[in-house]
Order: sequence, then C-alpha cells, then structure tokens
Amino acid sequence: MADILPQRVSMIDPEELLEWYSVAQRDLPWRRPGVSAWQILVSEFMLQQTPVARVDPIWRDWVARWPTPSATADAGAAAVVRAWGKLGYPRRAKRLHECAEVIATRYDDVVPDDVETLLTLPGIGTYTARAVACFAYGQRVPVVDTNVRRVVARTVHGLPDAGSPSRRDLEDVCALLPDDERAPVFSVAVMELGATVCTARAPRCGVCPLSHCAWRARGFPAGTAAPRRTQKYAGTDRQVRGRLLDVLRASSSPVSRADLDVAWTTDPAQRDRALDSLLVDGLVEQTADGRFALCGEGDPLP
Ligand code: SF4
Repeated sequence: MADILPQRVSMIDPEELLEWYSVAQRDLPWRRPGVSAWQILVSEFMLQQTPVARVDPIWRDWVARWPTPSATADAGAAAVVRAWGKLGYPRRAKRLHECAEVIATRYDDVVPDDVETLLTLPGIGTYTARAVACFAYGQRVPVVDTNVRRVVARTVHGLPDAGSPSRRDLEDVCALLPDDERAPVFSVAVMELGATVCTARAPRCGVCPLSHCAWRARGFPAGTAAPRRTQKYAGTDRQVRGRLLDVLRASSSPVSRADLDVAWTTDPAQRDRALDSLLVDGLVEQTADGRFALCGEGDPLP
C-alpha cells in the first residue's frame, strides 16, 4: 500500500499558480465576467461527468434561451430534458429543472450564496454547492473535484493518484487556500492545472508552473492502485435508456410501446429494464391509455 506522508512536504505557491493561470487558463464561457450565478450553476450541473467540449455549445444555447431559474422552470421539465440532448446522465436535466423551480419560487429567482442553503437544493451535492459559492460568489470555500484531488495527492502527499474521496480532501484543500481575496481564483486555478497540465494519464511536468511537487521530488514513485478500467457505453443500460429517450425527445406527443420497442431490439429484457428505470427516475411517464411521454408531457387521461 502506498505510504501517505505524515506531514505536508510541499505547498502550492499561490503566486506561481496564479501567474500561470493568468496566461494559461482556457477561455471557458462560464468563467467570463458577467456570467450569472444561475448560469454558473447550470455549467456545474452539465460538467459533472461530461467533458468541456461537449458542454460548451449546449451551455451557450441553454443560457441564451433560459437565462434565469424562472425561465428554466417555466420551460417545463420535458423541454429541459429535450435540450439536454446528448450530454448524458439525463437525470441531471430533471434535477436541474427541479432546482430552477425551487430557486424561482422560494428564493425570488436568486441562487443562494451559502453552501448550507445550496446543499438543500435538488441535484446539488457537496462539490456543486462549493463550486457555486466560490465561482459565482467569490467565497473562500474549498472546491474539490477529481482534478483537484489528484493535484493535491501529487504536490502535497507525493502520491501519483488520489485515493478514495474522503473528508480529508476538504481539509487538505482548505489548508492550501490563500487567506485572502485570491482564494476563489486559486481554487479554479488548481482545477485548471489538474485538467490541463497535471492530468491523470500524462502529466506535463515539463511545463508545470509549480516549483515544488512532492511526487516529482520523490522521483515519481508508482502507485499501487489498480488501473481504472474505462467505462464502456455500447450495449449498456445507459445506451438503451438513451435510445428510448431519443424516441421520446423526437416526438411532441406520447408514443406507443411499439414505437419504443423498435429503438432497441437486441435484448427485449434489457429494453424493459431500461424503460422501467426511466419511469422510476421520473424522466418518462405513462399516460392513462398506456402510451409513454417525456416527463410533463404525459397528459394523462382523467
Ligand atoms: S510537477 Fe508534474 S506531477 Fe507535480 S504538479 Fe506539476 S504536473 Fe503535476
């Protein structure tokens, strides 16, 4: 088992990191000045488990069409799930719509600015709550995603990879944050370093701005964790759910069971299981006459 150094042997120098970030940051539209807290929140929902390149065009269309929580809530759940398109994990779309409804009705269309309140909103977990508080409201709160955990594991603990998420991650990042107004930019800069330089498979140490890195200082010792297997998509229930949702997205009215059956003929049992899970998730609903529709478009018979 890889040893964890008992004491911090390296800190991230804010000056080095922020100087690098000021010239190397990607031009991500949700990081530009003037982007609202709601639009930042939308980006964080989309970026969970989906790469930047796929999120970018959908986010731009989204915030142009629905710039506020109330506009998103008024659009209806089906329109939101439809606009989510191929971002994957469509439960996020439904939760985002629920989140918009709560903010519009309970918070006067203003995204709350404190982590505790954010955590009570639908679809918002520890990471997203802290990301919104930090990136939208400039608060000094630790924001910990996979990239940040990896940078901390390497620079601070001298390990090639972060282990399983733990409470210690928040404490580590909190201890690294500058104790002044640079903290929010520091947070996004660490994340950016992990996403573009200190990457999981091929860290580019030759262009790394950090002069101190415990893993490099130790000669890049190998880890003992088993290599992570790449998640396959083809043939999974996720793919079948996507096919079924495609049929429903393309129709403005409820469809028959036969219309759904042709979307996946390889394994009828798998198709049934996928459809059941969509019904359980509330992404699909069944009308009183037995047809199927996107959430909110079921128009059930009395
Ligand atoms: S020196 Fe290499 S491993 Fe260390 S933080 Fe920089 S990119 Fe990551």
